[in-house]
Amino acid sequence: MSETVFDKIAATLPAPGTKRIALRVTPPAERSIRSGHPWVYGTSIEDESHPGAPGDLGVVFDRKGRFLAIGVYDPTSPIKLRVLHQGDAVKIDGAWFNQMLSTAIAKRKVLQDPSLAPTNGYRLVHGESDGFPGMVVDRYADTLVIKLYTPAWIPHLKSIVTGLRKAQPHNRLVLRLNRSMRKDPQFLFGLTDGQFLHGPALTGPVIFSENGLRFEADPISGQKTGFFLDQRENRSRVEQITRGCSVLNVFSYTGGFSVYAARGGATQVTSLDVSAPAMEAAERNWVLNLTNPNVAACEHETLVGDAFELMDDMARMKRKFDVVILDPPMFAQSASQVESALLAYQRLTRMGLDVLAFGGTLVQASCSARVAAESFFAAVEDAANGYKRTLREVRCTGHAVDHPIAFEGAAYLKCIFGKT
Ligand code: SAH
Repeated sequence: MSETVFDKIAATLPAPGTKRIALRVTPPAERSIRSGHPWVYGTSIEDESHPGAPGDLGVVFDRKGRFLAIGVYDPTSPIKLRVLHQGDAVKIDGAWFNQMLSTAIAKRKVLQDPSLAPTNGYRLVHGESDGFPGMVVDRYADTLVIKLYTPAWIPHLKSIVTGLRKAQPHNRLVLRLNRSMRKDPQFLFGLTDGQFLHGPALTGPVIFSENGLRFEADPISGQKTGFFLDQRENRSRVEQITRGCSVLNVFSYTGGFSVYAARGGATQVTSLDVSAPAMEAAERNWVLNLTNPNVAACEHETLVGDAFELMDDMARMKRKFDVVILDPPMFAQSASQVESALLAYQRLTRMGLDVLAFGGTLVQASCSARVAAESFFAAVEDAANGYKRTLREVRCTGHAVDHPIAFEGAAYLKCIFGKT
């Protein structure tokens, strides 16, 4: 049955263009492509053979007319070409996508090591860094979610869906479209955000496992594809430091860090987020794990509201926690916002320290790709020092195996653990 659903959808989608666009780019863009950077901005394209449609293949030739790179073209975006391959000339077709999908999925095999607690929620395809610029695929048990950030993938969707079915058998496939794509319905060919590409419709959230804990994800309307899979390893690290502790989890979303903290032996956990639906999910996620005696023994409080206001209130009431986790949304969207983002991170550090007990541990993360890891770590440490609360036994962490980093600028996640 599911086969026919996608067949019907696929019949309405455009086929990939047959005529490749020949492109010439500026010397700095050439160097950037050679260094492995996958984005070619429209402003650095000097010449193109003809106007193309989203998803057409574009070939960049160098100064000497030699093949430099091939990618998917997108006239609707400032990033006009997303590079699929650079170096020797290759043929991009269904077989290429199958091969790339198998390679990406094979990289994640380590997560299935039988000696590890079960994890069936993780990222299968991490965009640019797995050779699929502008596309991610996440797995939640037998549901896969494919999220597109450019209409350039639409003509190739049939190949991708076929390849995914072979490389990672699943029951259901959900399509998510990035907000910027939804503004331009003429390039969506009837596809909608949250649409089922195949498999039975969902009657509620999907339940999956992460390191043996159970969580729900809402692939249709949740943030990202339903869960912040990138924090899995940091959540495990938190579990290691919470025995006998009280824990404040700020920007908790659906309570991932909270449940790990409880399994680690925390006596009390407070989850705080501005999103009321996220907090309701955090409560359900807690209940899903009550079979674990540590979770059952731990007290869980949920607070819906603005993190800055609520942390201020707690500080005034002299409330203290042994572990404070700060995992805010992205603060810097562009290079011009880096300075203000660093100041905002420092403000958060100070606010976190105001509610951190003496000898407690501050865990602070940043997901702003624009903010370099070293700048972030230095800013947090400086803020703490200026506050006469030196961070000791500092650990700085980065990306997990399912969120690989293939080029400079791909690293966005960093997290600092500092004992005071
Ligand atoms: N730590 C989470 C992911 C956090 S994502 C996890 O492990 O799953 C960032 C979260 O910050 C989102 O859930 C968003 O709703 C929340 N948020 C954004 N602005 C906020 C604010 N001013 N106060 C509180 N929460 C906020």
